[in-house]
Amino acid sequence: MKPRGKLMDAMDEARARVAADDRKDFEFAGRGFIATRADPVIKRPDGRTAFDLSAYGFLADEAPDTANPSLWRQAQILTQHGLFQVADRIWQVRGFDVSTVSFIDAGSGWIVVDPLTTVEVARAALELLTEHVATKPVLAVIYSHSHVDHYGGVGGVTTAADVAAGKVKVIAPEGFLEHAVSENIIVGPAMLRRARFQFGHTLACCAHGEMTSGLGPRPSAGTLSLIAPSDLVTHTGQEITVGDVTMVFQLTPGTEAPAEMNFHLPQFRAVFMAENANLTMHNLLPARGALVRDAKAWADYLTESIRLFGPVSDVMFAAHGIPRFGQAEITAFLTSHRNAYKFLHDQSVRLMNQGLTAPEIAEVLTLPETLRRQWFNRGYYGTMSHNSKAIYQRYLGWYDANPAHLNPLPPEPEAKRYVAAMGGAAAVTSLADQAVADGDLRWAATLLNHLVFADEGNKAAREKLAEVYTQLGFQAEAGTWRNIYLTGAQELRDGPVRLPAGGFSPDVLSATTTPMLLDLAAVRVNPERAAERAFKINIELTDRAETHLITVEDGMMAHEQGVGDPAAGATVRLGRPDLLMTLIAGVPFAGRVASGDIVIEGDASLYAALVEMIEAPTPNFPIVTP
Ligand SMILES: [Zn+2]
Repeated sequence: MKPRGKLMDAMDEARARVAADDRKDFEFAGRGFIATRADPVIKRPDGRTAFDLSAYGFLADEAPDTANPSLWRQAQILTQHGLFQVADRIWQVRGFDVSTVSFIDAGSGWIVVDPLTTVEVARAALELLTEHVATKPVLAVIYSHSHVDHYGGVGGVTTAADVAAGKVKVIAPEGFLEHAVSENIIVGPAMLRRARFQFGHTLACCAHGEMTSGLGPRPSAGTLSLIAPSDLVTHTGQEITVGDVTMVFQLTPGTEAPAEMNFHLPQFRAVFMAENANLTMHNLLPARGALVRDAKAWADYLTESIRLFGPVSDVMFAAHGIPRFGQAEITAFLTSHRNAYKFLHDQSVRLMNQGLTAPEIAEVLTLPETLRRQWFNRGYYGTMSHNSKAIYQRYLGWYDANPAHLNPLPPEPEAKRYVAAMGGAAAVTSLADQAVADGDLRWAATLLNHLVFADEGNKAAREKLAEVYTQLGFQAEAGTWRNIYLTGAQELRDGPVRLPAGGFSPDVLSATTTPMLLDLAAVRVNPERAAERAFKINIELTDRAETHLITVEDGMMAHEQGVGDPAAGATVRLGRPDLLMTLIAGVPFAGRVASGDIVIEGDASLYAALVEMIEAPTPNFPIVTP
């Protein structure tokens, strides 16, 4: 296939932009480099690879035809790996994970900021620091926000015992723990399935495969951990001193994460911007799915950051990407970044109020050239297209007010009718071939997607659609879009890679409240099975001194904490691990009753009925086929 047309023009434009690059970001990315690991492979205890620093070595070459040159440039910057000195007493380890970890020398020990996604890479980062800078104890860990790539590796830099003993502080924004455990619980299976597309988890790391998400290298694949915070930041201006270093915090809830914060180090004229200012336009709505974020709040908090930190910072570092150096540079960067989010928000809303729908806004809205020419405002992770639709969704929802779209047919029956109306599969195929020949790949994808949804056994249509997705992926400037298209092509050809249902980290599970776990059970209830019965069960957790009343009726399960009903059909006494195993992990409960670990008073068949109405998740559901 010879792709031409608008998208190839965009490729040519990207090539020209890259050729004219002043290389400032490369200079910032390389500044202060000390060393990297001798062994590029960071292993898990079971011998599997948690992260391979050599995986992106292919990026040393020139951008091939299989990659957008602008994304190639971004990936070259994001995958530089090793230990870097950022300021007098500040270091970062970058390129070991999707996120970066920072280390602040607090005199008598280290402050570790955002200890990556998994234990193995966080430990490797601390070892690299120790080897090249100094051996000191960890005095504090800071979680800048509630996403797993900023706390999951904490077990690699400290222990729960040291935190409990007061030897190590764990500092986080107010609301951290609740959001850290809740975001991926209730729609976990759907988000995990969709995240595979966003991050390209099942793609090879190569010039025709995954080449970062545009935000950072692929997430590490080690062991997740979580230690609850010991100290919370509750307001802007709050100061916390660790060793001889004082940090002044800016709380930014409802920006990139529901609980997030930046901080300033007055002694070092340094500011940490968490994930609020990045080397890319960020996501208001990740493609994996999430609650829509607030672009206006994000821009407004950046306005406050500029006021608070702009005049008093000579270095800025962040939770992804690279630092920036120089007071004027930092103010200009934060201002331009703020302006991009503000423009995106305000203009999306203006066009909504003029009656444009989400895809119509996405089609016409671009940043002014003054913003667009800044690499860090370009859509490598979030995109203007996806984000303007997210703003529409946040304010107005999925319905565009056109009655034809109020109750349309679902994709499969709609596709069958489209294909029939257009003269059958052969006619649609030739229209698609023509669209491909014209370089009209978006329309080709629509036509071929109808063919696949009308008849998933149409192998020729699947292969043609896979080829179209591949070309769209190669041309995409966003790493996320590239991963999504290339994963779509992979699944059309080979079906979904069969992955097991995502398990929960024991640390995350123990921090999850019982009502959240019962919510998870409730959204797995099979309504037909539940509708056959109506009953109540008292649950008494013997290890937590908690009681919960479960009501099953009308095909649903409700639960209340701290309530018991003497008229309930059964009272079940058990430890929370047994509740989890039997209700959520599908472990047969008869053995636990026989061993006396679960004690049931009343009608024992009721707990069996409850367990049987809860379905296992479907981790590999189809996406690119009906
Ligand atoms: Zn992150």
